[in-house]
Amino acid sequence: MIKKIEIARVFGIPIKLDLSWFIILAFITWTLASGYFPSQYPELDNFTYLVMGLLSALLLFVSVLLHELSHSLVVRRYNVHIRGITLFIFGGIAEMEEEPPTARSEILMAAAGPLCSGVLALFFLIVGNFFTNFVPYAPVIGVIKYCVFVNTAIMVFNLVPGFPLDGGRILRAVIWNYTGDIKRATQTTSKIGSSMGVFLIIFGFFSIFTGNFIGGLWLALIGIFIKGAADAGYQQMLSGDILKGIKVSELMTRDLITVDDSLPLDRLVDDYFLKHRFNSYPVVSDGTLIGMVSINDVKKIPREEWRDLNVSKILDTRAIDFCVHPCDDATNAMSMMVKNGLGRVPVLDNGMLAGIVSHRGIMHIIKHKVDLKV
Ligand SMILES: [Zn+2]
Repeated sequence: MIKKIEIARVFGIPIKLDLSWFIILAFITWTLASGYFPSQYPELDNFTYLVMGLLSALLLFVSVLLHELSHSLVVRRYNVHIRGITLFIFGGIAEMEEEPPTARSEILMAAAGPLCSGVLALFFLIVGNFFTNFVPYAPVIGVIKYCVFVNTAIMVFNLVPGFPLDGGRILRAVIWNYTGDIKRATQTTSKIGSSMGVFLIIFGFFSIFTGNFIGGLWLALIGIFIKGAADAGYQQMLSGDILKGIKVSELMTRDLITVDDSLPLDRLVDDYFLKHRFNSYPVVSDGTLIGMVSINDVKKIPREEWRDLNVSKILDTRAIDFCVHPCDDATNAMSMMVKNGLGRVPVLDNGMLAGIVSHRGIMHIIKHKVDLKV
């Protein structure tokens, strides 16, 4: 299913729209055209309100895009690769391949966004004053004033010192610089971010029950999003930290159960899926790995055909592209599996199947290490 559409490339960075973006564009346009603008400028007609609403919503997204772009351009100077900028329901995300390398680069990267929004707010303020004094046309002034407001709001909101918001990143880098301990810095600022999320959720529900339904729902949703991002950011750093220096060979299973490609599906189900606990098996033909077969591949085939089909007809040959080497970093193997939605991948050594690593197996080790604090 397509969820993101690439609309442009700016300085070589792909700009993508998440499908949720269209919902929020319509929602903001409607809120502004039916409520905000008619209350501020009661003398205009409905069509003008609609145009003003749509224009304001689009300028809001351009503002968010410029904010994210400024983060991206700064962090790219430190050779961190940017996969793209995605605009979605709660704003924008610049997808970085890795974290900024030093505390200093993190501060500069994080500060660039709010600074950009501040400059935009000032720019719209000056343009707005120009129009008020020389071309006093209410619809244009209304849109520009809205842009001053949203850019100020984006700046202030992002400066809240909870990770992963920009303010939280700045605070994290300051603590990191001061203590030299990025883990503790992330822990502290994630907790602030998480608490801030909880506060927004509570405040949002409070607003809903005191009559501000849409505003309250909005705050609560943003709160859930921030809390999730803060918790996930911390977990992610923790697992990256724990897996650091660990090789695939230390985590892989060596006693392998392989399946021959000529095996009929009914026997695959009886002798493998119903007998062992694995959801997928490496498939070999004359001793060489040719793919993986999973329980989901079998599920797609009607039961009455199981007897006549063999494994070679349904196996997933992507496994050949997604294999790892025993000397690979466990972190890389893990992120490769997460990115491609794979549960288990084969480990190949000189073209020979040496073992299997599983997402669940790695998560298990992370959990034990966290529990035992080793
Ligand atoms: Zn930002």
